[in-house]
Amino acid sequence: MNFYSTRNTKLQASFEQALFQGLAPDGGLYVPSLTPDLSKVISGFSSKSTMADIGSEIASRLFAEEMSAADARAIAERAFPFEPKLVEVNNQISILELFHGPSCAFKDFGASFLASAMEYFLQGSDKNAIILTATSGDTGSAVAQAFYKKKNIDVVILYPSGRVSPSQEKQLTTLGENIHALEVQGSFDDCQRMVKEAFVDERLRAELPLTSANSINLGRLLPQSLYYLYASSRLPGETLRFCVPSGNFGNLTAGVLAWKWGMPADGFIAATNANKVVPEYLKSGVYAPKPSLATPANAMDVGSPSNFERLSELFGGDLEAMRRVISAYWVNDDEILTTMKRFHGEYDMFVCPHTAVGLLSAERYLNEHSNYQGKIVTLATAHPAKFTEVSKQACGSVPEIPQRLAEILNRQKSSTRIGPQTSELSSFLRSNFSNE
Ligand SMILES: *Cc1c(COP(=O)(O)O)cnc(C)c1O
Repeated sequence: MNFYSTRNTKLQASFEQALFQGLAPDGGLYVPSLTPDLSKVISGFSSKSTMADIGSEIASRLFAEEMSAADARAIAERAFPFEPKLVEVNNQISILELFHGPSCAFKDFGASFLASAMEYFLQGSDKNAIILTATSGDTGSAVAQAFYKKKNIDVVILYPSGRVSPSQEKQLTTLGENIHALEVQGSFDDCQRMVKEAFVDERLRAELPLTSANSINLGRLLPQSLYYLYASSRLPGETLRFCVPSGNFGNLTAGVLAWKWGMPADGFIAATNANKVVPEYLKSGVYAPKPSLATPANAMDVGSPSNFERLSELFGGDLEAMRRVISAYWVNDDEILTTMKRFHGEYDMFVCPHTAVGLLSAERYLNEHSNYQGKIVTLATAHPAKFTEVSKQACGSVPEIPQRLAEILNRQKSSTRIGPQTSELSSFLRSNFSNE
């Protein structure tokens, strides 16, 4: 199937084109041109289906014109050597742990599939790619791990200096080889703007094979739909609602896609921190992006969510249609900490600050809908050990650090500092990658 730009339905691309373009040439985001009914395929998944099984079945339907079923299987198997884990918290709330991949965050699923798909399309050609990505913390580490030492691909990561946690910074800046970290003297919104501006700079794009790995890239977005299907395959016959801690709204958009393909779900809960542009939109009907606020759930500190345009397009721009499917809540800084503390006390469970935003929102939904009989699956977006400083503050103690994270903390940081101007980014790119 083809994909069209949110700004012009006539501007269409294949999956391969969308993968390497990232953003559409008119600055829009690609969305699927068709809504296939995959409900038969989806109802065939069981508690034995792995992510590779689910991924290969779905990818072979979506990308049938561009790859064989065997190639779709190979891409999915290479992408998913790790699985989510569904954990019951109480009789109405479960947690879908998405942090068992290399960087300990849900972004591993999208980044790893993207790397696997790009590798597939580049293999045997003499093309190469430069991946430009802005991160508020977790995107960069997932992308860095996913692309580390991939042939014919360089990765340039922009992150806001002093605004990511020490462990996130180590994950971005210690790999080396084809992974380049730019420490920007500005906010995440600056980083995101610089990347967007570089992409619409036609001269730069003519010189360099730039592509994106942000959640605007379809190659990251589409595979994020797969773990919703994984969760629904583990809870057959249940009424389900998914609660999604959100920043750029890629994760929620991917869930809505799975629902449109026929996943049995009742709806979604969009959970944000104090950056509450989308909850306010659902309430008032006015969409008013703002500068981002720093919160303890820093991977969700986004004042102008890059996927909103795509999410809105999936509902045909119809606010009422979106309201029927998505409820939204926002959680303030104190509530993030008290929820972490409460879950640690009540359930002997460490949760990361982002997951805490989700859990409190799920509880609020249940409080406001006392006749709701179904289950809420809250996405646990990162391992709590990535946020030990916040855990210590909230719970007075810290979770055990997984081996794969501990190793990174001992490595040496290496980054290049630049100002928050797109011209500084362009000169870095030209001096490092032109005429190689
Ligand atoms: C990126 C991220 C989010 C937000 O996801 P979006 O797709 O941007 O909405 C939430 N939690 C964590 C830990 C993240 O890294």
